[in-house]
Amino acid sequence: MAFEGLADRLQDTLQKIRGKGKVTEADVKEMMREVRLALLEADVNFKVVKQFINKVKERAVGQEVMKSLTPGQQVIKVVNEELTALMGGEQSKIAVSSRPPTVIMMAGLQGAGKTTTVGKLANHLRKNHNRKPLLVAADIYRPAAINQLETLGKQLSMPVFSMGDQVSPVEIASKAIEKAKEEHLDYVIIDTAGRLHIDEDLMQELKDVKEAVTPDEIFLVVDSMTGQDAVNVAESFNDALHITGVVLTKLDGDTRGGAALSIKAVTDKPIKFAGMGEKLDALEPFHPERMASRILG
Ligand code: GDP
Repeated sequence: MAFEGLADRLQDTLQKIRGKGKVTEADVKEMMREVRLALLEADVNFKVVKQFINKVKERAVGQEVMKSLTPGQQVIKVVNEELTALMGGEQSKIAVSSRPPTVIMMAGLQGAGKTTTVGKLANHLRKNHNRKPLLVAADIYRPAAINQLETLGKQLSMPVFSMGDQVSPVEIASKAIEKAKEEHLDYVIIDTAGRLHIDEDLMQELKDVKEAVTPDEIFLVVDSMTGQDAVNVAESFNDALHITGVVLTKLDGDTRGGAALSIKAVTDKPIKFAGMGEKLDALEPFHPERMASRILG
């Protein structure tokens, strides 16, 4: 289960303070030491941990008394609110262009779950927003990527646009948008190439595609299981591409949670969706508040 270690440790720590009728500064200090360790152990970025701890301390010591809560409960409420804020506060909405189609460009390293997420996102848009997406196969380097997307399209009974692997991604993406306009499809989701590591060629290609099609959203797909690496990857992609949001995959696994808690604070870009499994319906809008509550039990 995702966040298991973090949830256990935080819940144990907070339990000690929950019923307290009086919370001293020493109590808060002691508790925050435990919270800090729990977050670091869960692979949360250390700068993020530091800021978080300072924020909670500042608010929890000498805060206004709320009649319905014990002081202990109030401290827990502050932790909950700050965890929520750390993950972006509100749930982020997906863009809708006033001049369809809305163009979504997907980026990410190989294996992060990018191609699968294209299918999941298309399914989500049709099912929950009544949209008609076109899936675009612009990953021309990974031999199986085009076939994989075509298979997903068949499973979903959705159109897939491909031009094989001898045409440039820029041309594929541009033609796909023309096609969507002709066929009155209102979303275009472009699967781009990934590599095992970030390199210049990859970034240049993505920048070229971005420039050619001016996407309404650029989603970076990152694997939550990779912890701090996921955050570093997000930072690099954001510097080069100015992404609009992150899709955090494999949150159904036993990820410790560091990426979920660090990405917004480090990149200032929200996590928009969470991948919760391999199936096409396993994508959920990311709710910071629900996630915080889940961690704190
Ligand atoms: P790409 O190289 O980034 O396009 O990655 P793929 O879409 O091919 O996905 C790589 C692997 O991760 C596949 O086996 C997917 O089924 C799996 N995968 C993708 N998203 C999730 C997820 O949210 N949870 C789990 N458990 N597996 C996922």
